[in-house]
Amino acid sequence: MLVDSHCHLNFPDFKDDIDDVIARAKAAGVGVMQTICTEMEEFDDIYAISERNEGVFCSAGVHPNDSGKQKVVSAHDLIAKTSKKKVIGIGETGLDYHYEYSDRELQKQSLIEHIKAARETGLPLIVHTRDAEDDTINILNEEISNGNFKFLIHCFTSTKQLADESIKLGGYISLSGIITFKNAQSIRDALTDVPLERILVETDSPFLAPIPYRGKRNEPSYVVQVNKALAGLKGISEEECSRITTDNFFRLFNKAKL
Ligand SMILES: [Zn+2]
Ligand SMILES: [Zn+2]
Repeated sequence: MLVDSHCHLNFPDFKDDIDDVIARAKAAGVGVMQTICTEMEEFDDIYAISERNEGVFCSAGVHPNDSGKQKVVSAHDLIAKTSKKKVIGIGETGLDYHYEYSDRELQKQSLIEHIKAARETGLPLIVHTRDAEDDTINILNEEISNGNFKFLIHCFTSTKQLADESIKLGGYISLSGIITFKNAQSIRDALTDVPLERILVETDSPFLAPIPYRGKRNEPSYVVQVNKALAGLKGISEEECSRITTDNFFRLFNKAKL
């Protein structure tokens, strides 16, 4: 079985065929998906999708690109959502200085509120980081010294330094379809010292379809291609790789029960 650790099933791209998308994922062996929250206003829709579908779990959080839209979400409000059975992660949160849709200070404040929620609930923090490596590492480092929490760097596109520091702090890394792209050699190289036991796979669908679907709408069944690329990178069979990445998912997101 495979897990798509990060997708956005509530996005308008899926509104006409969500049931088919989930059925195709299951037929491809993707028995578990986590549909990720990017704004608190989305939460009810996301939760409804996870509640309706066996094997679909969800998170609670505010994407850094949305963290300046309204007042910064509080740890208290995030924690309140986690009392629901199928909420297994906190995020996605983090820092995105590439688009900088939100003020950097607001992004940092929001990240810290999510960290408090992760620490208090024991649920993993799902971190989005783009062009913000130093601040991401500094905040994770500093906050872990204030009290431990679990975390995952999702859709990894960063440097070897960020990968290695994250592993040192006990974190996990999730790979998306980007690792199948020809021009992503630097990202593959950054993973040399990351143990397979700390790697998850995801689609981040509807975005970032892996090769050979690049440019099309992405969907959870395509996580097969991500797992295949990772297996090639680590020199193991696809089967072994899916067993390991699935075990990793359930170890990290240990509230997810089938
Ligand atoms: Zn993201
Ligand atoms: Zn996402």
